[in-house]
Amino acid sequence: MCGIVGYIGFRDAYPVLIKGLHRLEYRGYDSAGCALVSRTSELNVYKAKGKVSDLERATQGKDITGSLGIAHTRWATHGAPSEVNAHPHISKSGNITLVHNGIIENYATLRVQLEKRGFVFKSQTDTEVLVQLIEFQKELRHCDLAEAVRRSLHLVIGAYAIAVIDKENPTQLVAARKASPLAIGIGEDYKEFFLASDASPIAEYTNQIVYLNDDEVAVVERGKNLHVMNLYGEDKEAEVKEVDVDLSMLDKGGFPHFMLKEIFDQPNVLRDCMRGRIINNVYSSESGQAHEPTLDVVLSAVKDHRRELLRARRIVIVSCGTSWHAGLIGKQLIEHFCQIPTEVAYASEFRYADPVVEQDDVVIAISQSGETADTLAAIQLAKEKGAFVYGIVNAVGSSIARNTDTGTYIHVGPEIGVASTKAFTGQVTVLTLFALALGMYKGTVDQQEYQDVLEELTNIPNKIQEVLKQNDKIQELSKKYTNSSNFLYLGRGFNYPVALEGALKLKEISYIHAEGYPAAEMKHGPIALIDKDMPVVFLTNHHRRYQKVISNLQEVISRHGQILAIIHEGDDQVKQMVETYIEVPQTLSCLAPLISVIPLQLLSYHIAVARGLNVDQPRNLAKSVTVE
Ligand code: GLU
Repeated sequence: MCGIVGYIGFRDAYPVLIKGLHRLEYRGYDSAGCALVSRTSELNVYKAKGKVSDLERATQGKDITGSLGIAHTRWATHGAPSEVNAHPHISKSGNITLVHNGIIENYATLRVQLEKRGFVFKSQTDTEVLVQLIEFQKELRHCDLAEAVRRSLHLVIGAYAIAVIDKENPTQLVAARKASPLAIGIGEDYKEFFLASDASPIAEYTNQIVYLNDDEVAVVERGKNLHVMNLYGEDKEAEVKEVDVDLSMLDKGGFPHFMLKEIFDQPNVLRDCMRGRIINNVYSSESGQAHEPTLDVVLSAVKDHRRELLRARRIVIVSCGTSWHAGLIGKQLIEHFCQIPTEVAYASEFRYADPVVEQDDVVIAISQSGETADTLAAIQLAKEKGAFVYGIVNAVGSSIARNTDTGTYIHVGPEIGVASTKAFTGQVTVLTLFALALGMYKGTVDQQEYQDVLEELTNIPNKIQEVLKQNDKIQELSKKYTNSSNFLYLGRGFNYPVALEGALKLKEISYIHAEGYPAAEMKHGPIALIDKDMPVVFLTNHHRRYQKVISNLQEVISRHGQILAIIHEGDDQVKQMVETYIEVPQTLSCLAPLISVIPLQLLSYHIAVARGLNVDQPRNLAKSVTVE
């Protein structure tokens, strides 16, 4: 949550900061601000409530010179979104300024102590405490900024990624992190440095990136050096990674919104996700003789760690939001193919639930950003209890990727739209490959089914393409629902988590209340909601117990629910029962989610657009939830 950008070097900082904020705006967008040390050594701080474009307007005609600066796009935790609460926050003397991502949990105590010493606070944020505390430490100890930052962080409880500058020393930028992400890009010959919450604002300048670890402080000297230390001032090695981000993925590519682009990206990115992981075997490993081509899964993390994975008596999947829905599908896949009991927990509940985790348990953590604070904490807990932790993430080099024992990237490219789409299908694809690979080692997968599922998986991108061709039809259909205030999504088996995901997509971007429910469970409560005004999205496609689903559908029809059915091609039975339906290609039951979620993504997208809402930046949400 919230995006941080910083620059120190030889070029004008302002354009770098603004462009960076635009790249990070998906992380938070209730207010934005920047601070620049000008050519005349003034500290200029500009803030605006609203989007980065509002900040740009606020800086028009102002002094935006200077080659040292920090900037922020906020997702408020403490204090309403307003200009005064926007970052950067400034110290009492007006010399030190800071941007912060995270939460200072003991801010109230620190604030009282600082107020007693004459510090006056302007904002309601937790963050302002930190900048005043740094100034207090600097005065108290007559030390430099870096030491003042270190000393202050010893007194702070909570999570932070910060960037701090001091007008009195305009050759330095100080940064630190604990539980919130921070990356530092190193320009050519160490002449300039870029700081950001993720690699996307840095990628066009350099691919040499250092990811700070928890409890590390970085001191960046203009044109000189990057010095990393721990909170005790001891030197730490700055591990430089080469990170390549596909810049074309960071643009809308002609689509009106990132979300629509990302929905349409799915066929291609799923091919990327599977590339090299499903291989054609023409030679028998035993005899070396050529045979009929067969397909195989190659997932190096499963192969290299099969000993730990096969030892699992239980698997626990921890995740949040859309990733949690992918986890529910993962549970069914793992139980079916590997016969290993699997539980799915919300990471935020798991971390405080005193969960029973045993040494032989395997914990799978799923997160698009790889920075989800609750999931990171759940991983920490699982590791302390001795579990083997497997990560499924999208962002390369992210905290979860670095803090798990092993894992698999979903490789779907940066996801900017706040409502997750391609990450979901990427996660489900990787979970399918994981379950097949592990089931193969365990000997619990039927050989024929293994082949059938792999073959069908390679057809999925084309089948998604077929669904996408119905975009215009779905847009037309969505008009019917623009003024609805409630929705019900029903599905069974593999389609039940898709019902949850469809409802979540609608809530997130169109602000229509929606519930996902197992179709058969509906009669134990939600059926009372059904009348002629209640739209019910019914997933009838590809169910192993098709007739059972049809009975549930009949129950809704009998109560005059306004049905929109997602059906598989050629399903004449449902066509005769309902007026409104979307036909999707046939597939295997276990792969149905990859197909049936597509019309639901498009439906929520078009409903939200028709309601005139900002699809890529829905209210109150942020993409990467790096606070608890
Ligand atoms: N807790 C800080 C605030 O509310 C930072 C929030 C963020 O990460 O954007 O201002």
